Amino acid sequence: MSAGPGFVGIKFCPECNNMLYPREDKEHRQLLYSCRNCEHKQVADNPCIYVNKLMHEVDELTQIVADVVHDPTLPKTEDHPCPKCGYNQAVFFQAQTRRAEEEMRLYYVCMDSTCGHRWTE
Ligand SMILES: [Zn+2]
Ligand SMILES: [Zn+2]
Repeated sequence: MSAGPGFVGIKFCPECNNMLYPREDKEHRQLLYSCRNCEHKQVADNPCIYVNKLMHEVDELTQIVADVVHDPTLPKTEDHPCPKCGYNQAVFFQAQTRRAEEEMRLYYVCMDSTCGHRWTE
């Protein structure tokens, strides 16, 4: 899968091929991608992401989810209808927020192909 225009957020772990999650390294003032499956970490090659996140508090959803509805390994739920279109199937996954004080939270992505709305609990 190649990244389309404006789609800079998703990276995959070179060790285990799991999705990497953006994470702020406050100490060094840079953005890291870290793997939740293994110990792999890498510095983001696009510092703009970091700047954007700082300037606009960009919701992680916009960076993480673009194509997850097509990931057959993600669990699906019919108990969380889309708050936007009411479609009753969504994929969900856990992601670590970049705020250390927050616990893991669940992200949902509407499976209606014309909607694609994403939200979190
Ligand atoms: Zn990994
Ligand atoms: Zn929807």
